[in-house]
Amino acid sequence: MTKHVSEIICIVCPLACRVSVAADDERHILEVDGFQCKKGKEYAVAEYRSPMRVLTTTVIATKSRHALLPVRTNRVIPRGKLINCMNYLAKIKVKPPLKAGDVIVRNILNLGSDIIAVGTLLD
Ligand code: SF4
Repeated sequence: MTKHVSEIICIVCPLACRVSVAADDERHILEVDGFQCKKGKEYAVAEYRSPMRVLTTTVIATKSRHALLPVRTNRVIPRGKLINCMNYLAKIKVKPPLKAGDVIVRNILNLGSDIIAVGTLLD
């Protein structure tokens, strides 16, 4: 059995502990070291098993003086789905009026997260 060690920086608090997660060939976790609290251990295990991210990007704006509208997910999504979401959003066009927080795409790719406007889009 080979032991694989992944280094993960905990982002739960500003201490940014360097947590190492050791796993076997089948990605079963063997040990977790370097965390200073339970939350950090939980974060590192979750990050190892299924990393999640907020997606921030832009969509094309039409009928506006702005060419693009900044958007983001309102919840984290699996890191492995970021490209799929980017490809989906590349086909989306929005037009004014839109304000920060408006939903641009509801439940994108059935991931349980909405795409919301970050900025305001005026004429
Ligand atoms: S392991 Fe705990 S103390 Fe360290 S960065 Fe994460 S939350 Fe903070």
